[in-house]
Amino acid sequence: MLILGGTQEARHLALDLAPQVSVVTSLAGRTERPISLPGSVRSGGFGGVSGLIRYLNAAQITAIVDATHPYAARMGHNAWEASEATGVPLIRLDRPAWQPTEEDHWIVFPDAPSLAEALPDLGRRVFLSLGGADLKAFAGLTGMSLTLRAIDPPDAFAGRDDVEFILSRGPFDLLQETALLSARSIDVVVSRNAGGTASWPKIEAARNLGICVAMIDRPLRPKTHCVQEMSAARDWVLKRLGTAC
Ligand code: NAP
Repeated sequence: MLILGGTQEARHLALDLAPQVSVVTSLAGRTERPISLPGSVRSGGFGGVSGLIRYLNAAQITAIVDATHPYAARMGHNAWEASEATGVPLIRLDRPAWQPTEEDHWIVFPDAPSLAEALPDLGRRVFLSLGGADLKAFAGLTGMSLTLRAIDPPDAFAGRDDVEFILSRGPFDLLQETALLSARSIDVVVSRNAGGTASWPKIEAARNLGICVAMIDRPLRPKTHCVQEMSAARDWVLKRLGTAC
């Protein structure tokens, strides 16, 4: 089976399934030092839908779990198209989105460029905690205090000595996040609605400190059969592969 990975959920699913089935986890190859994974690992893009179809056939894949990040929309669409074309069954393991409460002050934007455009009106001391292509939208911002946290140094900000970089991989905790936001007098947190627990504490810290969260909304995903619990994805895989649950 093929797990489209790059997330904690994908890793946990691979750990769970590897003793029983032949698992390949696919990574985009963006992170310099990915966390170790059980089973086989392949790295790098497939070459679009046609490349993925070729891969599914060559590797004799019989089931796919799309466990990519909620914002990795391109890969999700490619997986759906390749599944439709080949008949290899696909399921998506998706984290539920975070929901704001009355105590939160969120402003939700449809995408990163619209948020970046509005940002100078929302605050002057910004904490950006994002990965992926969305970061590019913020690279043109100057004249603000920017603190940027990412796993690897972001190419889009290369050579910027006016930005504070924090290179770090979650999970983070509430005390750390509260201290980080307070020490820098952050007045706006820019985030994606990643869901899950690993990056939630910054949202909770912003709530407790009364800081605005500028949120990039989730991208549209294809209408893939979707589950939210790892155990449901595991049971689906074992049924597909004819292995007793
Ligand atoms: P994306 O926009 O959906 O994907 C762009 C391209 O990267 C895809 O078309 C595909 O290239 C390749 N790709 C993406 N995921 C892949 C995978 N698991 N295996 C092989 N190729 C993959 O995705 P992204 O936002 O750049 O994210 C890349 C990876 O980082 C994803 O695997 C995701 O789970 C992980 N990640 C992303 C975020 C985030 O904030 N976006 C956060 C944590 C982890 P081809 O078309 O050539 O196949």
